[in-house]
Amino acid sequence: MIRIHEITDQVLHYNPQADVDLIRKAYVFSAKVHRGQTRLSGEPYLIHPLEVAGLLTQLRMDATTIACGLLHDTLEDTLTTREELLELFGKDITEMVDGVTKISKVSFGSKKSSQAETFRKMILAMAKDLRVILVKLADRVHNIRTLEFLSNLKQNEMAQETMDVYAPLAGRLGIYWMKTELEDLSFKYSRPNIYYRISEQLAQGRKERERYIEEVIRVVNRRLAENRITAQVNGRMKNIYSIYRKMETQGIEFEQVHDLIAFRIITSTIKECYEILGLIHSLWKPVPGKIKDYIAMPKAILYQSLHTTVIGPYGERVEIQIRTEEMHRVAEEGVAAHWRYKETGEITEKDGQKFAWLRQLLEWQKELVDPSEFMESVRVDLFPDEVYVFTPKGDVREFPRGATPVDFAYSIHTELGNTCVGAKANGRIVPLTYKMQNGDRVEILTQSGHRPSKDWLKFVRTSQARNKIRQFIRRVEMTESQLLGQKLLEREISHLGQNLGRLEKQGKLEAAAKALNYKDVPSLLAGIGYGKTSALKAVGHLIPEDKKAEETAAPARPRPESQAVSSAVSLKGVGNVFVRFAKCCHPIPGDPILGFITRGRGVTIHSHDCPRVLDSDPERRVEVNWDAGPGEILTVRIRVLCVDEPGLLAAISRSISAEKVNIQKATIRSIPDRKASGTFEIQVEGTAQLNAVIKSIEKLEGVISVGRDRR
Ligand code: MN
Repeated sequence: MIRIHEITDQVLHYNPQADVDLIRKAYVFSAKVHRGQTRLSGEPYLIHPLEVAGLLTQLRMDATTIACGLLHDTLEDTLTTREELLELFGKDITEMVDGVTKISKVSFGSKKSSQAETFRKMILAMAKDLRVILVKLADRVHNIRTLEFLSNLKQNEMAQETMDVYAPLAGRLGIYWMKTELEDLSFKYSRPNIYYRISEQLAQGRKERERYIEEVIRVVNRRLAENRITAQVNGRMKNIYSIYRKMETQGIEFEQVHDLIAFRIITSTIKECYEILGLIHSLWKPVPGKIKDYIAMPKAILYQSLHTTVIGPYGERVEIQIRTEEMHRVAEEGVAAHWRYKETGEITEKDGQKFAWLRQLLEWQKELVDPSEFMESVRVDLFPDEVYVFTPKGDVREFPRGATPVDFAYSIHTELGNTCVGAKANGRIVPLTYKMQNGDRVEILTQSGHRPSKDWLKFVRTSQARNKIRQFIRRVEMTESQLLGQKLLEREISHLGQNLGRLEKQGKLEAAAKALNYKDVPSLLAGIGYGKTSALKAVGHLIPEDKKAEETAAPARPRPESQAVSSAVSLKGVGNVFVRFAKCCHPIPGDPILGFITRGRGVTIHSHDCPRVLDSDPERRVEVNWDAGPGEILTVRIRVLCVDEPGLLAAISRSISAEKVNIQKATIRSIPDRKASGTFEIQVEGTAQLNAVIKSIEKLEGVISVGRDRR
């Protein structure tokens, strides 16, 4: 077990200026709040934060990070509050501890490995500060080292999560010792039989292999020196998990794995690489067909190196890689990129660059005398453009920052998006405009038959949601336009004593559609309903001019006026959706009216003398009639000029109500000459009722004039 003075000694060793008082203070506090707690092993709990801090000194972290290592479980596992930490240790440490706690709360559990990449990014996005990830990794290393005390179920879960999420994360960051340790330990718990078999087989020849490595390096170094070439030679044992992977992917037994040891020679120039290859081949006989020149012919875009397999000093096969420092650096990233691609196939170049940059950051940090001066300024929003959330099933999904539950719903299923009426984040109801946060568990509330609203387009962030909403709206407009188009065309045709169904059967409708550049009949009808093509124009293509004249002239088939009326687009016939009343002239039933096709919005009803409609394209006008029977109640404005006299407003209101008419709004103001002007917004069924109201007001004493206000 590591002790606090060992930690501070190590920190002072790599940074004599480090604030070790802060580390001691964190230690004292942690010891106080964890007092009496024990780990499952029976040891005092404090050992865990101490070990985590110790691991962080191995990474040469700054005092802040090491203090955070000591405090990382205080918020989660003790009664310590955020405020307390804030007061004692300041904003930096508090936010970091908070970050570690947040990450610990989301668990990848035993989800599909295919989601691991997204989950890893979610963790990075939640961390906000790179140091939080390093604390979390150190926490995981110590936890997995002491995994034996947990139940089998917990062991399996943590082993899987470590293998899928944390080991690759450590690898991405270039902390290879952590990566291999995390891999080997999780492998030990998830596949104990294979793990122990391989490790036994390895142990059998370990001493010999170590001697062997030393010997090969010595021989190579001597040969290099004789030829005045400077290069770094190293050989290392592969870790158990990577040996297993090799056996698995190549379908071979342990004995057949030749490269248990990996030799690598790193030099400065390409010329030297080839020279070294020649020297190696002069030392040991190369295996034919095993020389790979990935310098002349790079393996992947990023990977360059020379590979050779030779018959070594004891007749064994030895694999050796030769490359320049530059190639080595690129290879590290390239191999990672290769691995990423193979494992998930979904990482982007952009993400790859981000990881390369993070690795670089850690490299630089290692070289600094005072790591704090650098790490202090590392406040990185690692994935500022993305947000990661959970589905109710626990799957992880990635969205652009600012995405809403509507985006979420459409990403799951179109129908879920179309029928969504509300949402919950972490069990709490949120508005559809809610901006999802990292780690949210999002749930969608639906109502069958619900339709997406055009307003959603204002706040959705994904093109998927936007397209689906537009598609839906277009489809609705399309069917409604088709319906309207058919009615308009039917009317024109029946004026000529023809029948639309018959024309369609004769293929004439189809021909007219083609002639007017529509792909089919429904599109033509929609075009008419949409106001792109007038019904009259379509008729021109359906019925020849002479025939038209003949038909209209034929006295045998007179066109009764009443028929024209009944087949005209009546308000009721078209349906409410597609008819709206113009706000400019407020027509009410009984007024002479005219319809005007507004693009994509159906028919707008204006009063027949409304200047707006008179200005419009005559092709788009349609004849409309009020339907017989009780219509809708519509709002109309009347203006009353009267003498300014108390009680008159009340009298006017009374006479309006006496006609069983509702007053929506009334304003009255005094004007010069002791007169008053009142405006009443009333709801009437039609002109008859309106006229009755006007008449009854006119009868009142003091009223000068009453008129409809069409402004
Ligand atoms: Mn912990």
